[in-house]
Amino acid sequence: MYGYGIFAGLAIASFIWLSGCGASKPLPVSVTEDLTMKKAKEIHERIVTLDTHVDFTPANFTDQRNYTQRLDTQLNLPKMFEGGLDAVFFSIFVSQTREAQNPDAFMPAGYERAYKAAIEKFDAVHRLVERFAPDKIALASTAADVKRIHAAGKKIALIGVENGYPLSEDIGRVKEFCATDGNGMDYRRSDDRLSSR
Ligand SMILES: [Zn+2]
Repeated sequence: MYGYGIFAGLAIASFIWLSGCGASKPLPVSVTEDLTMKKAKEIHERIVTLDTHVDFTPANFTDQRNYTQRLDTQLNLPKMFEGGLDAVFFSIFVSQTREAQNPDAFMPAGYERAYKAAIEKFDAVHRLVERFAPDKIALASTAADVKRIHAAGKKIALIGVENGYPLSEDIGRVKEFCATDGNGMDYRRSDDRLSSR
């Protein structure tokens, strides 16, 4: 949405500029579009482009199948390089909607399963940056990391914890997840009765 906003904003800005510059004849639409695209591409190249929410499955983070390959996933490294996307927040999302169907949901065993699912996702991101493509992407924990990695010409991986279910009832896990490179956490309410407490 952010990218679309830039494009839409530029389209409006260039329209105003072109229509307000006193030219007696407006430029053809194709020329206007070319100028807009040129300007948009310049901005795109200058800034650190960031996708703040990328869901994934650890099944795509194995030795045989991973994001160094052009998978049919929305995101992977070949597509990031091709599209000029610099940084992504990998989402550590564990839902309890499906979990609620299990008899031990919201009990220690259910919480433990959710916690393990979250850790599996943390590990998957680590495999990507440490084993599969350390020459192409690195993990950032701070804004300074993002700048440093970007300057080195690599893609940037960040980790965001989406939904608090894997925390179970142990608030200490917030600290633990932060120490495991989680840079952000949101509290989701979908149709989950215990979500976001
Ligand atoms: Zn998500």
